[in-house]
Amino acid sequence: MESKKRDIRALTREQLRDFFVSHGDKAFRGNQVYEWLWQKSAHSFDVMTNLSKATRDMLEENFVINHIQVDQMQRSSDGTIKNAVRLHDDLVVESVLIPTKTRTTACVSSQVGCSLDCKFCATARLKRMRNLNPDEIYDQVVAIDNESRLYFDRPLSNIVFMGMGEPLMNYNNVLKAIEKITSPEGLGMSPKRITVSTSGVPKLIKKMADDAVKFKLAVSLHSAVDETRTSIMPFNATFTLADLREALVYWYQKTKSRITYEYVVWEGINDQRKDVDALVEFCRFAPSKVNLIEYNPIDDGDFQQASNKTIEMYVETLEKNGITVTVRRSRGKDIDAACGQLANKSGS
Ligand code: SAH
Repeated sequence: MESKKRDIRALTREQLRDFFVSHGDKAFRGNQVYEWLWQKSAHSFDVMTNLSKATRDMLEENFVINHIQVDQMQRSSDGTIKNAVRLHDDLVVESVLIPTKTRTTACVSSQVGCSLDCKFCATARLKRMRNLNPDEIYDQVVAIDNESRLYFDRPLSNIVFMGMGEPLMNYNNVLKAIEKITSPEGLGMSPKRITVSTSGVPKLIKKMADDAVKFKLAVSLHSAVDETRTSIMPFNATFTLADLREALVYWYQKTKSRITYEYVVWEGINDQRKDVDALVEFCRFAPSKVNLIEYNPIDDGDFQQASNKTIEMYVETLEKNGITVTVRRSRGKDIDAACGQLANKSGS
């Protein structure tokens, strides 16, 4: 029966080896299959040509490979590519390839929808359907790596967990996926080239520090004033700035890894001097830099990007206080692939 079959990529290498031994075969078959599943990203048992037909049939009877399928690929005029990714249960998430002159960055999703309620984000309007499995996250990266080689003649260089979902709300699977992405048995990428972006779940930021993760941390701050932050990111009422701050200090003490704050400046929301001053103050608690990101409108017009003059005020004030600041232009806006625009419009 189809439903009895197990997802083979939920098994560790050891479990695969044990499976073969318990079926009267050699343990090293487990290694061969493991290599096909991860390093070679096999979509079916048929392609595992160093296994006998009987072994492949036996695998087929017991397991499935829940591989993702890129249903639709859209290309932006600036080279950005958005993939609509169909999962084995027909749900759809999106991932984005962002090219620059020297790099290719994959922006991947960690959940179908999102349980958080940021007022300015299109994904927040989709309720959270489920967490992605480690292999579904891994597959998004492989798909983008392939596209990068095909269209840009180079491998993927960076990964950001800034697609759909809140990565820390799917903590175990995100960490397992990163383990595979960085392992020589998977893609062998350096963890320094991976950034996990979170709205800021203090307990889990501390857990990451305790788990001694090696990837980078970005926090979607958007305001360092509790009242303002709660009005645009209502979960801030529970995960307050004081708790977030404490967790970030802990993070830095343990990892010595500088934090990036993502920040959009909106007219009438966080465009006053007191807002910049609060941000400067917040940046003092742990070594950090600020990434001012452009607002990507999500059709209702409640939020308006602040004027260039206001952005300049932010940049000047931050720099005057010795804080590194970058201003990031959006990519892929024409295909709804920019930050906060991922909402499956292209999906089904
Ligand atoms: N949940 C995670 C990752 C997904 S969002 C997080 O909150 O960090 C990735 C980034 O896009 C976050 O910094 C988020 O605040 C930002 N973002 C969301 N909607 C946006 C929009 N409409 N315009 C610009 N950035 C947006």
